[in-house]
Amino acid sequence: MIIHKLADKLNSVHSLTTEEYRFLIDNRTKEDEEYIKDLAVSARKKIYGNSVFVRGLIEISNICKNDCFYCGIRKSNKNCDRYRLSPEQIMLCAEEGYSLGFRTFVLQGGEDPFFSDEVLIKIIGEIKSSFPDCAVTLSMGERSRDSYERLYNAGADRYLLRHETANEEHYNMLHPPEMSYKNRMNCLKELRSTGYQVGAGFMVGSPFQTNAELAEDLKFIELFKPDMCGIGPFIPHKDTPFANKKAGTLEDTCFLLSVIRLIYPNILLPSTTALGTIHPRGRELGILSGANVVMPNLSPVNVRKKYELYDNKICTGEESAECRGCLEARMKSVGYEIVTDRGDIKK
Ligand code: SAH
Repeated sequence: MIIHKLADKLNSVHSLTTEEYRFLIDNRTKEDEEYIKDLAVSARKKIYGNSVFVRGLIEISNICKNDCFYCGIRKSNKNCDRYRLSPEQIMLCAEEGYSLGFRTFVLQGGEDPFFSDEVLIKIIGEIKSSFPDCAVTLSMGERSRDSYERLYNAGADRYLLRHETANEEHYNMLHPPEMSYKNRMNCLKELRSTGYQVGAGFMVGSPFQTNAELAEDLKFIELFKPDMCGIGPFIPHKDTPFANKKAGTLEDTCFLLSVIRLIYPNILLPSTTALGTIHPRGRELGILSGANVVMPNLSPVNVRKKYELYDNKICTGEESAECRGCLEARMKSVGYEIVTDRGDIKK
């Protein structure tokens, strides 16, 4: 009953103390999870009905100067077969995506020095002039304030930069010393003040994470109020220092999706590929927990296997049209519908 009361409070005031978030995570039963899920789904339906927004994900490079301990494309991974897409290849992906009904393209990649401001500005300009009704989202890691401004002025609408964990010590256990929690958080603030719609997010079940860190992540989401929040289970990659660590779970991820929906009912909340990787119906179950976005892959099939952030990533063999069709059928199977729309946050 205490958990129901906390959930009701969250549903009405959209705020709990960090201790209360912690209590909720620590003590919830299966029955409580169902209760919270029902609240989350009705909150989501009030704002977004049964529509699911789609973003076409274009993985533009797996070359990265960073060495995040969890990530399969970290620079120390000598077994990673590196690639980068040319601006022409990126445009072809966008053209195909447009004809499949995508109105948002997400350019994601490692921190590859080839993608200078100059190169990205040209690509953003071409996409925006060919498809003025589309939103462009960047997910290219940490850059300077100047760079974020230039890319914004070139037409980029949104930027995804997961904070990864809201606890500094935990951040330092996941990243090498040359990376810093303060810089990551500062980038998020700069992105917001530049004018982007901003996405933050974290991995569920990342190594050394406890419920205390998760409670801090939830408090951070409540306070920062990102327009989007990408969460998915951590999944080990065989060629990283975390190869033998345990993956995050479906149950925890779905529960946290519901809680985040209650924290900020309007938020854009993807049901991620990582969730679809740990369970055959993970993405459907994410939607049924309160998520409202899916991000099918638009990358050329010959590079998909190479953008392997974690082991056994799904959707690496299909053509874009198949991925789009497959997700459409999956969403229909649970009573939801993919819409052709930029999918902006409803405020
Ligand atoms: N370079 C960009 C894009 C990173 S890839 C950036 O820094 O933002 C996108 C996300 O994949 C990361 O933010 C991370 O949360 C997630 N990711 C990386 N490795 C993962 C793993 N092993 N398991 C689950 N998610 C992972």
